Amino acid sequence: MSVQQEAGVDGEALEVWIDQDLCTGDGICAQYAPEVFELDIDGLAYVKSPGDELLQDKGATTPVPLTLLTDVVDSAKECPGECIHVRRVSDSVEVFGPDAE
Ligand code: SF4
Repeated sequence: MSVQQEAGVDGEALEVWIDQDLCTGDGICAQYAPEVFELDIDGLAYVKSPGDELLQDKGATTPVPLTLLTDVVDSAKECPGECIHVRRVSDSVEVFGPDAE
């Protein structure tokens, strides 16, 4: 498994998860950041592990690689379902997404 530098705000590591209950399946996230997001055959988007494994457990998170931070944040901003959540690993506070302050 490759070691990727994780993204951060003020040096904080970030992770991302998708609320599939709200996903419209349009695939914008998978276009912006295919290394992180993928549509499954059920038509919904899921995050992928650093090892490229689709994570289908409810609320599953994956680290946000520094090189993909902009793409992941843009995905969260553009997501029509408002269901992409980016949060700090240390305290689980959402920093980008519908629940960010
Ligand atoms: S952008 Fe949002 S609504 Fe669209 S497929 Fe991705 S998670 Fe689902």
